[in-house]
Amino acid sequence: MEGESMSGETVVRAQGITRSFGNVEVLHGIDLTLHSGEIVALVGRSGSGKSTLLRIIAGLDDQHGGRLEVDGSRAVAFQEPRLLPWRSVRKNVSLNLSGGNAAARAVTALDEVGLSHRVDAWPLTLSGGEAQRASLARALVRNPEVLLLDEPFGALDALTRIEAHSLLTRLWSTHGFAALLVTHDVEEAVVLADRVLVLEDGAIAYDVAVDVERPRHRDDQRVVELRE
Ligand code: ADP
Ligand code: MG
Repeated sequence: MEGESMSGETVVRAQGITRSFGNVEVLHGIDLTLHSGEIVALVGRSGSGKSTLLRIIAGLDDQHGGRLEVDGSRAVAFQEPRLLPWRSVRKNVSLNLSGGNAAARAVTALDEVGLSHRVDAWPLTLSGGEAQRASLARALVRNPEVLLLDEPFGALDALTRIEAHSLLTRLWSTHGFAALLVTHDVEEAVVLADRVLVLEDGAIAYDVAVDVERPRHRDDQRVVELRE
């Protein structure tokens, strides 16, 4: 079931996760494993429960049944960057940061996402792509073991989205986080992820290993395996 090519320890293990709204059960018993350093895409139709599952794994919502184990710290980024408009970009990134040197660490993170020239800007003056990069910096500055991304590039135009893809790949190769990437863009899933999970009718219908040639992989073969 799990990708044998995935080295690394398990950082997220969800077993039999259920969640209802009212008397409608949206998640019927989700099993999901995320290994350290792995990028897993979660695709599915609108309304299939992707965001609900992501929020549960992020600790922003509770499951009704099942077990969730997360080993390590989590950070989240959403489709809407959710920056506080009355704080500078730097302050948005450093807000609630534990440990010393919060401002300096925020500047470093902003530099990594290519926003060193915008640290003192107000969020409302950023372009969509810049705002989303600030949101990634805010997540990354926390050095998460697990990054949870809910359609982070969904609102970007096609070219900006491609830039964002290479940025995420670059950040991944520097930081080595594990990521769960919710997207309804199957192409994006295949480009970015090691595995693609398909959520259908409240359950994981497919768990597809993607092993295509891409720069961040060392020993690639063009193999796409379908496992159920
Ligand atoms: P997706 O992210 O795949 O589009 P969601 O997880 O947002 O799907 O939603 C799954 C289902 O749960 C939808 O039918 C949605 O209407 C419902 N739902 C999500 N959040 C709530 C909520 N807070 N209250 C009631 N229903 C909700
Ligand atoms: Mg959603």
